Amino acid sequence: MESLFKNIELIEFENVFSSDEKCMEFLANEKWKNGFACRKCGHTNYCKGKKPFSRRCTKCKSEESATAHTLFHKCKFPLNEAFKITYLVCHNHDISSYKLSEKINLRPMTCWNFKKKITECIDSRGDINILEKEKLKKDLLS
Ligand SMILES: [Zn+2]
Repeated sequence: MESLFKNIELIEFENVFSSDEKCMEFLANEKWKNGFACRKCGHTNYCKGKKPFSRRCTKCKSEESATAHTLFHKCKFPLNEAFKITYLVCHNHDISSYKLSEKINLRPMTCWNFKKKITECIDSRGDINILEKEKLKKDLLS
């Protein structure tokens, strides 16, 4: 994702990710690019879920949203703004949260928190993998 974001101009970026829906579509495509597998039962057949771009397992009926288990899960501000922060951080890892908040129109603290998520991801994996580590699972097991 980092290399993708790095190689497009801001204008192009804003064009492609102009709405929450387009960001959601991107996440769904990335997330299930190797096919869908239900997290509960492993079934690979799905139908459309209730929310846009979510998928519902045809066997156990559990539904997974496009943002679940990604960096953008439970994001409290619009997805396209989260994408823009990601874009700006990709282009400048040291961008300050104040600068981000000027450009995105969110509180610096909100930007800082989200930026931290992204840079931690880059630090640990060298790239922005949209899928979050299965942190929670491990915590529950230990
Ligand atoms: Zn299932």
